[in-house]
Amino acid sequence: MPTAPADPGELLTRLQDDRIENLWITYHDYSGIGAAKTVPPSGFRSAVNDGLVFAKANLEMDILDHFAPGATWLGDSGDILVVPDPRSYSVLPRFPNTAIVNGWMRATDGSEWDGCPRTRLKKVVDELAAEGFSTMAALEPEFYLLEPRENGDWSPINSTRMFTTAGLQEASQFCSDVVAELEAMNVPVGQLGKEYGPGQYEMSVKHGTPFEAIDRYWALKMTVRDLARANGWIASFMPKIYSEWAGNSLHVHLSIWDTDGETDLTLGSEDNEGLSDIGRWFLGGLLAHAPALTGLGSPTVNSYKRLLPGSWAPANIYWGYGNRSGVARIPGVGDRRHIEYRSGDNSCNPALFLTGLLGAGLDGIRKRTEPGEPFQGDVGVMTEAEMRDAGLTFLPRTLPEALEALENDEVVAQAIGETLLPHFLEVKRSELIAYELHVHPWERATYLEVI
Ligand code: GLU
Ligand code: MG
Repeated sequence: MPTAPADPGELLTRLQDDRIENLWITYHDYSGIGAAKTVPPSGFRSAVNDGLVFAKANLEMDILDHFAPGATWLGDSGDILVVPDPRSYSVLPRFPNTAIVNGWMRATDGSEWDGCPRTRLKKVVDELAAEGFSTMAALEPEFYLLEPRENGDWSPINSTRMFTTAGLQEASQFCSDVVAELEAMNVPVGQLGKEYGPGQYEMSVKHGTPFEAIDRYWALKMTVRDLARANGWIASFMPKIYSEWAGNSLHVHLSIWDTDGETDLTLGSEDNEGLSDIGRWFLGGLLAHAPALTGLGSPTVNSYKRLLPGSWAPANIYWGYGNRSGVARIPGVGDRRHIEYRSGDNSCNPALFLTGLLGAGLDGIRKRTEPGEPFQGDVGVMTEAEMRDAGLTFLPRTLPEALEALENDEVVAQAIGETLLPHFLEVKRSELIAYELHVHPWERATYLEVI
C-alpha cells in the first residue's frame, strides 16, 4: 500500500501522480455526518494549503437539518475553513479521477479552532504524548443490509444466521466489492462477516493511530453505504432498527503504547497475564466516566433502545475477560489482548467519542483509578436483586440522562472543550425535542381504541 502523503507538498504531488480531477474535501459534523465539496485541479493548490470555506451555522443544525433551539451559530456566524489533513488522502476507485481528503476545521484566519472534533482529538493525543503514551485504536461497526419492499418499506436482505457461510454467499458480490474498494482506498480490512440479526453484517479494519482509526471508519461507512445504494439496498448503521432483533454497535478497540508506538503498555509482562497497571488504570478511567461517554458514543434517542441487558449490548458498567455483556471487555489471548469498549454506536461522531475515551483513560492513569474486579456473569439472566447484590451500576437509561452526565463530567467535558460541547448538546437536545413532540405509531396502536 502506498504511504499517505505527509504534508501539503506531498499531497499536491500525489494528486498529480494519481491524475485526480475532482478532490472532495470533507469534514464530519457533530452527528458524524460527512459534508463535502469537490474542487477541480485549478483549485488544488489553494484548497490544499488554505482550505475551503464552509458555513459555521451548519454545525448547529441537527440531523433533521434544522437549527437547534437556542442555536447561536446562525446565518450571521460566518465561515470556517476546512483544511485537508494530507494523511487522510485516498483515491475513490468507483468515481473516476476522484479522491477524498478529510480536513481540520479552522478559523477564517487559518488558526486552530476548538469547535473542530479532529482538533479536539489531536489535543488529547498530544496530552497523552506529553505523559509518555500513545494509543492505537480500531473502530468495528455493525450494520444491516436492507432491500426495498413493494409497500415502500425496507426489509433485511436475508435471514441467515450468525457467522454462516450462507451469510457471505448471499451477499458475496457486495462483500467482495466492499473489501476490494477499501483496499484500493488504502484501508487495511480486517474481517467482514454475517452478524446475529437478519441481514446484519459486521466489518473490522486494522488498528492504527486514532486519526487512522477515524479516517478508516469514515471510508468504511461511506463505501458500505455507497455500494449498498448501487445495489438498490440500504446499509443502515442505525443503533436499533428493529426492537426484536440485534442492534448495531460500534465497538472501539484500544491499546496504550509508549510515545514511539514501539512497546505495548496495555498488557502485563507474562504471556497470559491480564492488564498492566497502566492498562488497568486506563480501563478504570473508562469505567469511571462511562455515563458521560455514553452521551458522546450513544447520542440519539434510538441508542437507548439498544443498550439493554441480554442483548450483548451493555446496560451496566462492568468489565470482564471475554465477557460480552458488560461495557468493556478484554478479548483475545496473549499478545492480542487489548481493551474493547462496547457501548458506542454509529450515530456518534467517532472523533468526539474517541476524544472522550482517551481523555477518560488518561484521567484513569493520572488518578490510578482501579476498575474493580472483572465480572463473570451476564446481567441478561440475572434478577434485579442479584444485580444489586453484585453491586452492578447502570449506564444511563435515556438520552437526557446521558447528556446530563456528559455535561456534568468535568474530565470528559474538558476533553471536548467549552467551545464545542454546548453546541453538541444543543444539537442532540434538539433531536430529543423533535422526538418527544412527535406522536409515534406505538402510541396510537396502544391508546387509540382503549382510552
Ligand atoms: N449487536 C450487539 C450490540 O448491539 C453486539 C454483538 C457483538 O458482540 O458483536 O451491541
Ligand atoms: Mg459484532
